Amino acid sequence: MPLLRAFLLEDTHMTAHPPRIAQIIDGNDLSRQLRIEVTQRAAALRAKGHTPGLAVVLVGDNQASQVYVRNKVKACHESGLHSVLEQYPATMTEGELLARVEVLNNDPTIHGILVQLPLPAHIDAQKVIEAISPAKDVDGFHVASAGALMVGQPGFWPCTPYGCMKMLESIGYDLRGKHAVVIGRSNIVGKPMALMLLAKNATVTVCHSATKDLKTQTLQADVIVAAVGKRNVLTADMVKPGAVVIDVGMNRNDEGKLCGDVDFAGVSQVAGYITPVPGGVGPMTITMLLVNTIEAAEREAQARGLA
Ligand code: NAP
Repeated sequence: MPLLRAFLLEDTHMTAHPPRIAQIIDGNDLSRQLRIEVTQRAAALRAKGHTPGLAVVLVGDNQASQVYVRNKVKACHESGLHSVLEQYPATMTEGELLARVEVLNNDPTIHGILVQLPLPAHIDAQKVIEAISPAKDVDGFHVASAGALMVGQPGFWPCTPYGCMKMLESIGYDLRGKHAVVIGRSNIVGKPMALMLLAKNATVTVCHSATKDLKTQTLQADVIVAAVGKRNVLTADMVKPGAVVIDVGMNRNDEGKLCGDVDFAGVSQVAGYITPVPGGVGPMTITMLLVNTIEAAEREAQARGLA
């Protein structure tokens, strides 16, 4: 299968038993495939005179945020979506930002609105998120989107956990009756991840900083999603042989290179499937933003009788 690339371990200590070969779920490959679909759907909408549009709003000069927003806008353009990047100084007031969001809510060329987080400390991020029309909440952070996910109604799913679900789908993994352990309970990753796994009939355990004996939990898991933001939270001794391991974490190692929460070299010898960092969940997050934006534009087209 093109999505799966065998990972051969370079472990010179293991001579008595051959190392287990975990299969890699390649987020770059999967993203490429999904973006072909996005491009086709965007072209179909454009043919009806309905170009899907995303507005990305950045306040302040956070370096990492600048890279993220540029990548999001670039990904839109590559897939035939209209995208505008609005950049404002860190001195922008909360009132000014709320007013901008309102303008975008009423802009017919914009179907998705993304306000890049974090916002400067003087702006209440939750208030800004709640000001975005739920119909344009392609980040899936609005309380209406969270509620829709919880009760199983249509809405926008947060892009990172949505991408993780696509990765599981890509290997044909049936979650029914499986035990999934999610490490982390943030509103943007851990909690929505747990709800998505639950919706697919997994039995879900959510772990966090107050969890006692994380290893006891993870050793029971058929699927582990690590979304903590700390290196080596998950090591080989904490993983059941053959388990699927999804690494959401983004950290820097001692050499300053990007790495995840999972001890990749060790866990690869035990897991059945594993996502790498970089090249795993990261590219999927942007791809799911495109998917949500297309979805928003299609819903609007349908409402206007264009579909
Ligand atoms: P967050 O808001 O800081 O949440 C981290 C979670 O980890 C919290 O629920 C925390 O528990 C839990 N935690 C902390 N230490 C722990 C420990 N030792 N054992 C078990 N749980 C522990 O972070 P986030 O926004 O969810 O992001 C998590 C990671 O994913 C970060 O590295 C972030 O950069 C990355 N990320 C990647 C992408 C992507 O596209 N690849 C997207 C989003 C986030 P408490 O709730 O008890 O504090």
